[in-house]
Amino acid sequence: MIIENVHVAPVAGPELESGYIRIDGDRIAEVAAGPAPEAPGVPRIDGTGCLATPGLVNTHHHLYQWASQGLAQDATLFEWLVALYDVWAAMDAEVVEGAATAGLSWLALSGCTTTSDHHYVFPKGRGDLLAAEIEAARAVGLRFHPARGSMDRGRSKGGLPPDEVVEELDDILSATAEAVDAYHDPSFSSMLRVAVAPCSPFSASADLMTESAVLARQKGVRLHTHLAETLDEEEHCREQFGLRPVDYMTKLGWLGPDVWFAHAVHLSDDDIGRLAATGTGSAHCPSSNGRLGAGIARVSEMLRRGANVGLGVDGNASSELTPLAGEMRQALLFQRARYGPRALTARQALELATLGGARNLGRQDELGSLEPGKLADIALWRVDGPHAAAVPDPVCALVFGPVPPLARVLVGGRTVVADGELRTLAHDEAGRAGVRARRRLARLAEERGFTAAEQIH
Ligand SMILES: [Zn+2]
Repeated sequence: MIIENVHVAPVAGPELESGYIRIDGDRIAEVAAGPAPEAPGVPRIDGTGCLATPGLVNTHHHLYQWASQGLAQDATLFEWLVALYDVWAAMDAEVVEGAATAGLSWLALSGCTTTSDHHYVFPKGRGDLLAAEIEAARAVGLRFHPARGSMDRGRSKGGLPPDEVVEELDDILSATAEAVDAYHDPSFSSMLRVAVAPCSPFSASADLMTESAVLARQKGVRLHTHLAETLDEEEHCREQFGLRPVDYMTKLGWLGPDVWFAHAVHLSDDDIGRLAATGTGSAHCPSSNGRLGAGIARVSEMLRRGANVGLGVDGNASSELTPLAGEMRQALLFQRARYGPRALTARQALELATLGGARNLGRQDELGSLEPGKLADIALWRVDGPHAAAVPDPVCALVFGPVPPLARVLVGGRTVVADGELRTLAHDEAGRAGVRARRRLARLAEERGFTAAEQIH
């Protein structure tokens, strides 16, 4: 396949005002300026009026939360979690599959080609929740990095979640090992890789953190958790462990090039230096941080000091319908509001959403830039509409403005989105699956005595 007459922002390497991308199988074969060569029989996409970027990479999410949006609207993180744990305790595999189908299609429709998901609530006897979301990712056609999450520190052990939504340490470790063995594919073209992901310092014990790190390193998979999201968390860590969050994770052996943290908002100068020195990555989730009033991460300083940062939409229950492409704009505006107009450029924001994300997932050799040999994960944005066409720089139009329509999204050369519509599922099937999941979760929660209406504020 050839995409021709297109403005190419490859993220690595020089931008091409008018060039072409030649795809061979699931890889990029050539990115070059000028008209594309004759190639009889090869399908061609005319990219006139379009900007080609690497497909966006989402490095923090909770897909199941599609089914619990709009609740605890004015709450802090801890208040929000306490309100929602009881609702989430009612979810089952059917809720997860519907929510994930809707969430993954929403990601695809905002230019995402690879996403991680951090699933950490596994109520007993509710079916195989991880298998449900993996099935949804297969159907939608995105590259998927499910992180088998976990919580073992319920209220009776000083943690935040109710005891009924946490699991026992041994059960978690065996289920996580089984998930890696069953699903993790380390190959170059992999559509599915599993990470190990205890939820947070306030819901996972020190033993679970340590044992998870040992397991992940034995299996050669990556480690993920929430860290330094709010000042409440920092206070919790000081009180319970006598340490600030990054110091606590350092003590537990959790810094390294195989680790990425969600949020990393409240970092000291020394914390940033340690993340950079150890190659530990972070997923910046600006809309969720804004919604929950968590704070603004020190992204521009982290980048300047060599710490890797990717983007995450975070779960829809704390970010609502945030499109991944919109997080570039949100990240740019947050950094500039805090540090001034040179804090983050449009191209740096695009790099966060692509190569930064690929590095978080350990896939910088396979994904995140448009270069020969890498996987053909490509977003083709229409920047010739009546509004975007007024902006002479298409990367500026993409990042500074509203999310432009997508002419095409390719995952490994396969069309997932064309002309702004998902092509892997029937029209609106994903949206309907999301509505069914929300209704089902509300009904299951009500049977347990919790109504969504009580959780709105
Ligand atoms: Zn999260």
